[in-house]
Amino acid sequence: MKIGLFGGTFDPIHLGHLRATEEIREMFSLDTVYFIPVYIPPHKRDKKIANYEDRINMIRLSIRGNRFMKLSDIEIKRGGISYSYDTICYFENKFKDIYFIIGIDAFSEINTWHRYEELFYHTNFIVMVRPSALKHSYLEIFPKEIKGHLEDEGDGIFKHSSGKKIFFKDVTQLDISSTRIRRLIEQNKSIRYLVPDKVVIYIEKRGLYRG
Ligand code: ATP
Ligand code: MG
Repeated sequence: MKIGLFGGTFDPIHLGHLRATEEIREMFSLDTVYFIPVYIPPHKRDKKIANYEDRINMIRLSIRGNRFMKLSDIEIKRGGISYSYDTICYFENKFKDIYFIIGIDAFSEINTWHRYEELFYHTNFIVMVRPSALKHSYLEIFPKEIKGHLEDEGDGIFKHSSGKKIFFKDVTQLDISSTRIRRLIEQNKSIRYLVPDKVVIYIEKRGLYRG
């Protein structure tokens, strides 16, 4: 079993998340991609986010009917601040071959994550890159503590001394962010075709993000 893990705030989930992970799932022949909404994000602790229930409901509506995509509520089950380190160890124990899927924007800040050096011993990474991004500078993106452990295999693939790999892969990164969606709603503007139709309806019904 090859398992993809896709963590995020998903406040709300949007077509950028969905299209990119669909492409990654296909490229790597992943058996399942788990969407793992953060319960209490260590980085955004001071920011207001929609409640967990609403965020998971929107994920459910978005992935229903896609047999490769599942929701994991492990972070609320564990409770407290959600650290990816704990989530990764949990999945590593269940399935051996795991791939942590992450956008290059988030990956470039990985040195701020809890126990980040150890993450590279527990999971492979798939870093989603915009097709236009510069290819020669991937090594520069790694924190210096990690660089010394890496072997450049070419083609955007790096092997860590642990044996785990980091793959940089081009995906369609639609120019959509949750921040932009929340802002549009505050301004009373349409979010149609940026999120799945069912999520548009859910947000309206629940009156989310109206400020
Ligand atoms: P926010 O604007 O609130 O930061 P976001 O749109 O970045 O939200 P997150 O939940 O923070 O969404 O991101 C979860 C993951 O999805 C991260 O790894 C991020 O890099 C990735 N991601 C975000 N937007 C896109 C997109 N348009 N295409 C592909 N991946 C994306
Ligand atoms: Mg983000």
